[in-house]
Amino acid sequence: MDCIFCRIVEKKAQAKILYEDERSIAFEDIAPQAPVHVLIIPRRHISTALEIREEDKDLIGHLFLIASKIASEKGIAERGFRLVLNCNREAGQTVFHLHLHLLGG
Ligand code: 5GP
Ligand code: ZN
Repeated sequence: MDCIFCRIVEKKAQAKILYEDERSIAFEDIAPQAPVHVLIIPRRHISTALEIREEDKDLIGHLFLIASKIASEKGIAERGFRLVLNCNREAGQTVFHLHLHLLGG
């Protein structure tokens, strides 16, 4: 499996990383759709929202927590931001490694 986000997790591909811990990582989107456009992903490869399992519930909540922390750091928390998760092709998913978009500014 050749996954660009797994390669970013493994530091085999470059990305502007804003945050990382033992189970997640956040980095700037390469083609920003807003002044702030950050992707928050689990380190483990989960291809789509449909593959989220019962035991991943804490991990998924963790991604949302990181997103709001980054929104605060970026100064967009009070003004407002969007969190977007596209699932499968018709929703516009192009990278099949689960990711939360943080969009704002
Ligand atoms: P999707 O459409 O799957 O929800 O979003 C994929 C996002 O990943 C897009 O916004 C796209 O710009 C971003 N992206 C794709 N390849 C790379 C990459 O190699 N590096 C970074 N930083 N972002 C990427
Ligand atoms: Zn992956």
